[in-house]
Amino acid sequence: MDNAVTRLKGIAEQIAGRAKLVAVSKTYGVDDIAPVIVAGQMLFGENRVQEAQAKWPQLQDRFKGIELHLIGPLQSNKAAEAVALFDVIQTVDRPKIAEALSKEMQKQGRALPCFVQVNIGREAQKAGIAPEGLDDFLSLAHKVYGLNIAGLMCIPPLKGDPRAHFAELRKMAVRNDLKQLSMGMSSDFEVALEEGATYVRVGSAIFGGRA
Ligand SMILES: *Cc1c(COP(=O)(O)O)cnc(C)c1O
Repeated sequence: MDNAVTRLKGIAEQIAGRAKLVAVSKTYGVDDIAPVIVAGQMLFGENRVQEAQAKWPQLQDRFKGIELHLIGPLQSNKAAEAVALFDVIQTVDRPKIAEALSKEMQKQGRALPCFVQVNIGREAQKAGIAPEGLDDFLSLAHKVYGLNIAGLMCIPPLKGDPRAHFAELRKMAVRNDLKQLSMGMSSDFEVALEEGATYVRVGSAIFGGRA
C-alpha cells in the first residue's frame, strides 16, 4: 500500500524521535489531509495564508489539538489573518513583519512562538534575513517588538550540499541561545537531523508530488 499514511509512518520511523515532524500540506486538500490527522499527525505546515484559511478552520474544528505553522513568506497586510489562524510563525524575516506581528499579537492576545528565517545561502531571490544581519535583527525582534523567538529556520540553496548551511544555521542558533532549528525537507531531512534540526518540514515525501 502506497499512500500518505504509510509514507507518513515511514518518515516518522526514519526520524525516530530526533525532531518534530511538520507535515507540509500545501496544495493538498482537506480530504487528503484528514486521513493523515486520523493517523496521528497533529503538526502541519502551510506556506500561503489564504490557502490555509480556506482549508484549516474546518479541520481545526473537526480535530482538536492541531498545531499549524506558517512556513511561507508573510505580507504585513496578512498579519492579522496569520496570527488568528497559525500557532507558530516560522518566517519572520524583516522589521516590518516583526512589527506587524507584534501589533496583531497584542491586539488578539495571542503570543505565538516565532522563528526567524535566515537566507543561509545569501541568495538574491530568497526570503530571509542576511546572516550578517541576524544578531541585530534578533535583538530588535525581541527587545523592540517583544516577539517570542523560539529558533531559526532556513531553506538552503536548491543546488549543492546543504550540510554546511545546516551546520551554519546551528552555529547561529547556539550563538544566540536559541533552542529550535527548523531545517530539512523531503530531500535532505536526514542531513538536517544529523546537523541538529529540531523541526523538519516534509511535504512531498508524505503527500506525494505537487503539480
Ligand atoms: C514546500 C515546503 C517544504 C516541503 O517541501 P518538500 O520538498 O515537499 O518536502 C518545506 N519547507 C518550506 C518552506 C516549503 O515551502
